[in-house]
Amino acid sequence: MNIDYQSCITEIYNETRSLIGQGKVANYIPALAEVNPECYGIAIATLTGEIYKIGNADIEFSIQSISKVFLFARVFKVLGDELWTRVDREPSGSAFNSLVQLESENGIPRNPFINAGALVATDCLLSFCKNPIEDILYFARNLADNQKIHYDSRIVNSERATGFRNAALVNFMKSFGNIHNDIDSILDAYFHQCGIMMNCVDLAKSFLFLVNGGINSFNDEQILTRSQTKRANALMQTCGFYDESGEFAFCVGLPGKSGVGGGIVAIIPGLLAICVWAPELNSHGNSLVGMRALELFTTKTGISIF
Ligand code: GLU
Repeated sequence: MNIDYQSCITEIYNETRSLIGQGKVANYIPALAEVNPECYGIAIATLTGEIYKIGNADIEFSIQSISKVFLFARVFKVLGDELWTRVDREPSGSAFNSLVQLESENGIPRNPFINAGALVATDCLLSFCKNPIEDILYFARNLADNQKIHYDSRIVNSERATGFRNAALVNFMKSFGNIHNDIDSILDAYFHQCGIMMNCVDLAKSFLFLVNGGINSFNDEQILTRSQTKRANALMQTCGFYDESGEFAFCVGLPGKSGVGGGIVAIIPGLLAICVWAPELNSHGNSLVGMRALELFTTKTGISIF
């Protein structure tokens, strides 16, 4: 397959720019509300080491829930299948911060990519890791091969100041016995994860291990086994886009993960990772332009996992 990726993303970028203005930047904290809504970048990182990019692909942004993939990989690597005693692997069909299912499902979150699931995964991380805040940041840096990736303390502090629902989720799960560590420490680590700053190039590179059977091609470390990688990608496919995961699978046909900072990363196993950032969101909390850009990407290239 000989695809000119640079021309492809340039075409997509030009065709989709007119959609800017139709979504809404996340506004639950000032640090996200102040982002320039016209920012738009796309980057592709291939397994063979090429980078293609256009627009604001080098501007860092708050990765928000995309960090849930790093957290999941870090914890799954250590706990293996034991993780499934604490969190399920079904799509939730509910909003990312929903409490409703937890009541009838005995404090077991539907999957690791909704807030409740990530809070349990953070609890697991705290059980085996002395410095969880440092640990996840280093993990992301190694995956992206960029030691400059950092936390934005303003975002972290705002997440903390407004994180009442996350506090409710973690307390509720504790009442079912599904939280083992100190609640404030779990929330602190979780809020930090939301405040990791990366750009499109970093994010595309950091997902390459999922393209590559679980191996970080920058240092040859086996992050996940091939079988675990298959499971991580299946989870992204079914649960990576809040209550719009079905729509993303239908329109794009790739495993991926979004965040309310407006980033989306998607992968084609064995080939490449692609990140789109456009901060305006649709009503489900996914980047409006990003969804369309990725739909065009699989349509124009003719590649998807289906
Ligand atoms: N920071 C958000 C929260 O925990 C998560 C954002 C996201 O889903 O991207 O409420």
